[in-house]
Amino acid sequence: MKTMPHFIGGEPRPSADGATFEDRAPATDLPLATLSRGAEADVDAAVSAARDALTGPWGDTTPEQRADLLDAIADGIEARFDELAQAESDDTGKPVSLARAVDIPRAVANFRFFAGAVRHDETGCHPMPGALNYTVRKPLGIVGLITPWNLPLYLLTWKVAPALGMGNTVVAKPSEVTPVTAGLLAEIIYDAGAPAGVFNLVHGFGAEAGQALVAHPDVDGISFTGGTATGAVVAATAASSFKKLSLELGGKNASVVFADCDFDATVAGVARAAFANQGQICLCGSRILVERSLHDRFVEALVAEVEATRAPGDPSDPATAFGSLVSPAHRAKVEGYVELARSEGGTIATGGRRPMLPAPHDAGAFYEATVVTGLAHDSRTATEEIFGPVATVHAFDTEEEAVAIANEVRYGLAGSVWTNDLRRAHRVAGAMESGMIWVNTWLKRDLRVPFGGVKDSGVGREGGRHSLEFFSESKNICVAL
Ligand code: NAD
Repeated sequence: MKTMPHFIGGEPRPSADGATFEDRAPATDLPLATLSRGAEADVDAAVSAARDALTGPWGDTTPEQRADLLDAIADGIEARFDELAQAESDDTGKPVSLARAVDIPRAVANFRFFAGAVRHDETGCHPMPGALNYTVRKPLGIVGLITPWNLPLYLLTWKVAPALGMGNTVVAKPSEVTPVTAGLLAEIIYDAGAPAGVFNLVHGFGAEAGQALVAHPDVDGISFTGGTATGAVVAATAASSFKKLSLELGGKNASVVFADCDFDATVAGVARAAFANQGQICLCGSRILVERSLHDRFVEALVAEVEATRAPGDPSDPATAFGSLVSPAHRAKVEGYVELARSEGGTIATGGRRPMLPAPHDAGAFYEATVVTGLAHDSRTATEEIFGPVATVHAFDTEEEAVAIANEVRYGLAGSVWTNDLRRAHRVAGAMESGMIWVNTWLKRDLRVPFGGVKDSGVGREGGRHSLEFFSESKNICVAL
């Protein structure tokens, strides 16, 4: 079993009070690592190391030098690819095939992409009669990065790369549920040559290390990805010290299927949208709205697709496509929602059970991919974020009704539209209240595009220049001619 300390000032360091916590593998419920449990004193030490680094030689680095560092970190991730993929799978329960295909390549891509973005960044110039304005970008300063458990390395690197690229120093607080790859990333960042204190890592719980980081008076900005209720606490804590804040929060996303869609591709795409990473992606389409004339045929095909392709299995087996949920506690939440679906009058078309797996996976947090039909589209099951492998299917009659149902939730993160009618695709995509819409696809990502949600799904955008802008302050200089 690994012992994983914090990383403060470029060095592994235990908690000031010696406290630790245990991280377990969800697919077996066996202990995986003992981690230092951060509190205010550890966050203080990390912020102080980040401040020292900011005022040291790091403050004089050029964008080119920082881009070179990001590329070296990407090289370091590639060099430890197998170890990282296995660690991510062990810590989250996700199939190692998914970690190898998505999580780790995306962590590499995040560093490579932002290396290029920083190298090619430009700022504005506004000539006026008698004067010239030009904009320069300054680092924000010390940024706190707080991340969730579903895509641990993928989402942390999505923040670390632009934060370092723009010249900030970082204090990261990964999810206490899946902290392992963040610890490995700290080693990689320092092996790549980062100056001491540029990247600091404090492990621990949200109410302790996370809260202390958000409340810290010397932290200049917080980039947070996590649940909506937590986001509200983070926003309230950060507000009194006017920290720059980015909030990427929860979702309950609709997949809107019209009768004229490409049937087979849509069934496969909607199933993937609902159940990728065991339904534990903020962008997952867990409310499937189907035009009434297609509804019964679609449900039948969806159930067949799910049963054929998403049998839960050992995440370490390269053939497994559907792993365990992230923890027994999270599975209990998911099971509670399936009970609620039953009590709300839903029919379990497939799933709705714990699978029987041989030891040691009989102790794991596995749950079948579950499709529920017959629920009211405004039922709790169909409108609250479950963040697990449970999708509900609802019939609609008109395009207007589909849009109205899609928009009746408090969230507005993402959605997808499946149709061959070009004009309708644009109309529906435009009318859905969410930050991101895919048409005839799902989770196709270009790292330049704005990423983020509306309504209770968050504030601000990440991606491309949006990340560069968040992690910097624009400053105008006006020169009289
Ligand atoms: P969570 O909100 O419970 O925790 C997220 C992080 O916040 C963790 O590191 C946690 O320790 C920390 N935290 C908790 N309380 C805190 C506090 N008071 N102050 C500071 N930090 C605190 O979320 P989770 O269960 O880890 O992740 C699941 C949620 O994340 C879902 O709602 C999902 O939709 C959302 N999510 C959103 C996106 C997005 O890009 N919008 C991406 C992934 C996940």
